[in-house]
Amino acid sequence: MVAKVIDGKALAKKVRQECSVRVNELAAGGVRPGLAVILVGEDAASKVYVNNKIKACIEVGLHSEVYRFPGDASEAAVIAEIERLNADDTIHGILVQLPLPPQFALRKVLETISRDKDVDGFHLYNVGSLVVGDTVFPPCTPFGVQRILESENISVQGQNVVVVGASNIVGKPMALMLMQKEATVAICHAKTRDLAQFTILADILVVAAGKPNLITAPMVKTGAVVIDVGINRLADGSLVGDVDFHGVKEKASYITSVPGGVGPMTVTMLMWNTVQSAERFLAARPGAALEYAA
Ligand code: NAP
Repeated sequence: MVAKVIDGKALAKKVRQECSVRVNELAAGGVRPGLAVILVGEDAASKVYVNNKIKACIEVGLHSEVYRFPGDASEAAVIAEIERLNADDTIHGILVQLPLPPQFALRKVLETISRDKDVDGFHLYNVGSLVVGDTVFPPCTPFGVQRILESENISVQGQNVVVVGASNIVGKPMALMLMQKEATVAICHAKTRDLAQFTILADILVVAAGKPNLITAPMVKTGAVVIDVGINRLADGSLVGDVDFHGVKEKASYITSVPGGVGPMTVTMLMWNTVQSAERFLAARPGAALEYAA
């Protein structure tokens, strides 16, 4: 069996077009979705990620603002900026690019973001909403994986899903989202004994560990759907995922590549969440019901 390689770039383009249509509809109501990004320090990868987010905003038609702080900035200064943005009606999404320098109390900063503008979905309110199945803003990377599965009509209901990686931003929310779609989910992490005994049972395998070649063909069930979230830069400068793509491709039914798989969808779902936030803002505006009825 040779897997179908899912084209994350093409799907991202389609979803961004859907977002643009919604942006135009919002313009008719006098609202332009706005995203504010806070970047602290000089981390090279973070700068690239922020640039990609701003480029996506331009492509989709969103207003964007970037607030850059030096690496030795105080937590109070960043929190004051977030509080100002919380009260700014032209901003519908606020995100703090992670990681933050060590002097920052991460949870305190994330909890300052208004839960109504928390488009990354990292505020405890939004994490809790995800747990009870009443999701407000699905975290962008797992949301992108969910959209990839839907785009191929891959139902997760009743399927054995194994998520490798248990971080707060990818693995755990991914597992919750798939569980809510009635999958049977196992979560593996660095302390899991004999990873292969879990992965071999997976109808759908989502890998987000940050370890090149962690998943090889003998660890994968024939016909499995394999979604590779990992991004690893090798010594020669090339980018690879966590899955031995060429080996596993011969055994899986669907597979995503790195680059070109989940990555483009992550930024795209950030656009989606920001547009969604602006739509909620418009709907909540006094007189909105009358405007819609007119
Ligand atoms: P993270 O916070 O470092 O978490 C990694 C998780 O993988 C942890 O739960 C860790 O277990 C687990 N793990 C590490 N080694 C393992 C092993 N040998 N076997 C099983 N589990 C193992 O990383 P993250 O932020 O979740 O990101 C994971 C990967 O996805 C990275 O490569 C990152 O660059 C990539 N990523 C990609 C996107 C995208 O848009 N495509 C977005 C976000 C992240 P413990 O909990 O036990 O330590």
